Amino acid sequence: MRELRYNPLLGQWVMVSAVRKKRPWRPDNFCPFCPGTDETGYGWDVLVLPNKYPVLDFSSDRPEGEKFYKKARAQGECGVIVETPEHNVRDLEELSLEQMVKVMHAWISITEKFSRDKRVAYLMIFRNKGKEIGVSLTHPHGQFYALPFVPLKIRLKLKNARDYYKKTGECIFCRILKEELDEKRRIVYENQDFVLFMPFFANWPFELHVYPKRHVQFLTDLTENEIENLADVIRVSTATLNTLFDRQMPYVMGVFQAPFHGGMDFYHLHIEFYPLLRDAEKIKYAAGIEMTTGEFTYDGFPEENADRLKMACRKSKIKKRGKCW
Ligand code: UDP
Ligand code: ZN
Ligand code: ZN
Repeated sequence: MRELRYNPLLGQWVMVSAVRKKRPWRPDNFCPFCPGTDETGYGWDVLVLPNKYPVLDFSSDRPEGEKFYKKARAQGECGVIVETPEHNVRDLEELSLEQMVKVMHAWISITEKFSRDKRVAYLMIFRNKGKEIGVSLTHPHGQFYALPFVPLKIRLKLKNARDYYKKTGECIFCRILKEELDEKRRIVYENQDFVLFMPFFANWPFELHVYPKRHVQFLTDLTENEIENLADVIRVSTATLNTLFDRQMPYVMGVFQAPFHGGMDFYHLHIEFYPLLRDAEKIKYAAGIEMTTGEFTYDGFPEENADRLKMACRKSKIKKRGKCW
């Protein structure tokens, strides 16, 4: 049914499973995430469901027949976070702050659950939005993968953060935050506990990052006030992106926590948004140079686009707990 295959050239795992092919593609008249189905029932505000077509499963068998190529058990869990019972909500800023806080608490419970599980090395909570990115179901939802390995991109971030910490005694994320706050050029929004900015090294034309001001590694480290401000900054992020071109922005969002095992004090929780549009009608494709090398070109200058994001933040109508820059 499923297995992990190791790419010895990149030092990277591939999650292989035939069950993924069975998942429905944008069904017209049935929504599996609306209240009242066999799986969803009634009486919830936020619902965490097992993914019906999981590429990872704790009951996966150990693959056999390993010679030169390395395989491993596709152990883990994939889940869906249904963020509201309301089918027609287009993005997170359309949820009330209270509802968004409930979504944050779902993220926190998932983190708590898997942090105790020895089989899980890394938890990725993410969100795909928009048909341009291949979202198969429109009902507002995020997802999580509880992974049995630490992904390559995370390992790279960890290595650079660890090296910087060894050299300077300082967290590289705290340092980036200080730099952005000093320079002020790319900061879009700030509330009491979080800063929203376009990074100096943005890949995507309107890339946005969210850093907590306090040096924490996990969502479970956040205080109740910080959780409310995280809900606020995420609502403002999506409001900004959807105001930018006066249309819904397709994006991918990821929550980068520390791996569960090994001392990770040098690491710093953050969230990244990769918006797909470079213009109202134009998609930025990760194509030739991006796919072949993994390296990005940036058309124009990030600071110009940061100005446009700042303007969109100011223009966006939702109630905010902090200030747009
Ligand atoms: N899914 C599910 N139950 C269903 C139908 C779909 O759990 O009844 C899962 C499906 O496997 C998919 C997710 O819901 O992973 C929908 O995710 P999304 O559209 O964001 O992206 P995808 O994972 O399809 O790329
Ligand atoms: Zn629905
Ligand atoms: Zn830090």
